[in-house]
Amino acid sequence: MHIKDKLAACETAGKPCFSFEYYVPKTPQGVQNLYNRLERMGSFGPQFVNITWNAGGRSNSFTTEAVSVAQAAYGLETCMHLTCTGMEREKVSGALREAYNSGCTNILALRGDPPGENETWSSVSGGFRYAKELVAYIRENYGDYFDIGVAGYPEGCDDRDPDVLLDHLKEKIDAGGTFIITQMFYDVDIFLSWVKKVRERGITVPIIPGIMPIHTYAAFIRRANWVNIKIPGKWLRTLEPVKNDDVAVRAIGRNLVVELCQKILASGINQLHFYTMNMATATRMVLEGLNLMSDLDSLECQRSARIVS
Ligand SMILES: Cc1cc2nc3c(=O)[nH]c(=O)nc-3n(C[C@H](O)[C@H](O)[C@H](O)COP(=O)(O)OP(=O)(O)OC[C@H]3O[C@@H](n4cnc5c(N)ncnc54)[C@H](O)[C@@H]3O)c2cc1C
Repeated sequence: MHIKDKLAACETAGKPCFSFEYYVPKTPQGVQNLYNRLERMGSFGPQFVNITWNAGGRSNSFTTEAVSVAQAAYGLETCMHLTCTGMEREKVSGALREAYNSGCTNILALRGDPPGENETWSSVSGGFRYAKELVAYIRENYGDYFDIGVAGYPEGCDDRDPDVLLDHLKEKIDAGGTFIITQMFYDVDIFLSWVKKVRERGITVPIIPGIMPIHTYAAFIRRANWVNIKIPGKWLRTLEPVKNDDVAVRAIGRNLVVELCQKILASGINQLHFYTMNMATATRMVLEGLNLMSDLDSLECQRSARIVS
C-alpha cells in the first residue's frame, strides 16, 4: 500500500501515526539485530518502516534483501531508500526491479551522501546528479506503481541558500514526489516556520517530520553536529549535567522529545517518523510518553487504512 494512502487514512481517522527508519548494518551480527528489531518493533504498530541505502552503494544488496524480509516475513509496509551515489542507470534499474519483485511499493528517492566521510559528491557516468532525476526516472519506468518520497531540510543542506533549497524541493515534487520526510531537528519553531514556507511555495504533499530519540549524550551531540542542526539551549542545560549517566539522559531526553512531538502534533501534522538507529528503547519510551503504544489505537488506524485503500 502507498504511504500517501496510509497518511490519508490516518488523517481521516484523526489519529497520530508513526513510522520507523532502520539503517543498513555492515556486519552479520548487525543484520541479525535488525531483523530482531523489525520483528519486535513491528508490534508497536508503525504505519511503515524505511530501510536506508548505503552511501556509495556498499552493502546495498542488503537493503533490497532487508526490504524483502520486512515486507514478506514481518508483514511491514516498507519504504526502500534509493540513492544516486555510485549508481549507474542499470544498477538503479536492478534495485527497482528487486523492490518491485518483493512487493515493495514505496521508494524514498535521494541524491545520497558522498561515498566516504571526507569525499565530495560526484555523479557516475550514466547515472543521475540530483534526486529529482531519480524521481523522474522511477515515474517514467513504473508510472504510479511506486509512491515516491523525497528529503526535506528544515535547517538547510550543503550550505545552500534556504530559498534555493525550496526551489529544489519543489522540483522534486513536480517530478513526481508525493511525500516529504525531513532531516532530524530539535527546534520545533524552525521546523514549523519551514513548513509554512514550503506551503507558501505551493507544495501541498504531506510533510513527515524526522524525529531522532536520544540514546546517549555523546550520540545526541555527534548526530546534531553531523547534520548541522540547532540544539535549543534548554536541551543542553538539562542534558549536559547528566551526560555520563545514560539512564538519566534517556529519561530527560524522552521528556524533551515527547514535548517536541506534542508541539508538532498540535500544529496539525499527524505523522512522526522515528530514526531508530536500529534500537528500540528510546523510541518506545517516546511513544509511551505520547500514549501512542496502545495496540487498539494502532489497529484502528491500520483498519481505516485498509478501508481507504
Ligand atoms: C529523510 C532522509 C533520509 C536519507 N536517507 C539516506 C540514505 O538512505 N542514504 C544516503 O546515502 N543518504 C541519505 N540521506 C542523506 C541525503 O542523501 C543527503 O543529505 C544528500 O546530500 C542530499 O540528498 P537529496 O535527496 O536531498 O538531494 P537533492 O535534492 O538532489 O539535492 C542535492 C544537492 O543538489 C542541489 N540541487 C538539487 N537540484 C538542483 C538543481 N536543479 N540545480 C542545482 N543544484 C541542485 C541541492 O540543493 C543539494 O545541495 C537522507 C536524508 C534524509 C533527509
